[in-house]
Amino acid sequence: PEMFRSLLGAGAEKQQVRNPTDQIVDEDMLVQAIKECWIEPYFQPKFTCQTQRLCGFEALARLNHPEFGMISPDSFIPLAERTGLITPLTLQILESAVLWLKQLDAYEIGLAVNLSRSQTDPALADQLLTLSSKHGVSPGRITLEVTETAQHQDPMQLLEFLTRYRIQGFHLSLDDFGVGYSSLVELARLPFSEIKIDKRFVGNLAQSTESQKICAAIIGLGQAMGLEVTAEGVENQHALDFLAQAGCDKVQGYYFSRPMPGYEALRWSRQYSSG
Ligand code: C2E
Ligand code: CA
Ligand code: CA
Repeated sequence: PEMFRSLLGAGAEKQQVRNPTDQIVDEDMLVQAIKECWIEPYFQPKFTCQTQRLCGFEALARLNHPEFGMISPDSFIPLAERTGLITPLTLQILESAVLWLKQLDAYEIGLAVNLSRSQTDPALADQLLTLSSKHGVSPGRITLEVTETAQHQDPMQLLEFLTRYRIQGFHLSLDDFGVGYSSLVELARLPFSEIKIDKRFVGNLAQSTESQKICAAIIGLGQAMGLEVTAEGVENQHALDFLAQAGCDKVQGYYFSRPMPGYEALRWSRQYSSG
């Protein structure tokens, strides 16, 4: 982490992301943002927990408004989900992220992209596959993180939709595990290869024995079911030590790096990989 921080330098995402409670994005603005390509992925690195080797990046959407500046996804993803704009938005993020990943072909790193649970349109799986093969990136390098936002989900439809992605070679990750709607039944039945422990448990590992028990239990569950476990929201050495001891596979968080704009994440990866 010391080295990561010194590599990070000045440009890391500071506090320029707008407060998620700002209600400034409406549907018209979102339509315009998609049309004019104001939405771009930022990239947050992911590391192996035991050896702290860089193993991939997660793409996180930002709306870069020419007047208001950077707007956080919490201010526009729920709106995108309600209005159906989430599909063009996802395609844009995936395409930019895949093009970005192409520049790191020399390194064996993966890319994670977030999908909303409301995105059960079967055509989307084909569109994502078309996009990744158009740019020569194998779906095996891409993990789709499914966030738990849609309450009204038909389980059979979800199974069909996830299986489609899996057959095409994408990896699937169950995001925000431990909060929301995921159940053990779902975990056993659906074709996930990873679970992500939500940052609300990881963030207070130092203060809360309850969070420690929950994290350890999720890691044990992942191991028992043959799933990789990633912890998000690692903010200090204490959390990292706890997770490593508990057998967690991968970690992500401000302790290593905040999400970075593409050019900076590229420069950072090259510096990191050269020593
Ligand atoms: P998420 O997928 O659970 O992503 C983790 C969030 O935690 C990100 O917030 C990330 O910037 C933040 N984070 C990372 N490390 C730390 C840390 O150490 N401490 C703390 N406190 N936070 C940390 P962000 O980028 O604001 O994204 C919020 C949510 O918006 C994401 O949560 C995801 O659910 C959604 N989202 C973001 N991009 C997309 C997208 O392209 N498509 C969809 N469908 N959802 C997206
Ligand atoms: Ca995620
Ligand atoms: Ca989360």
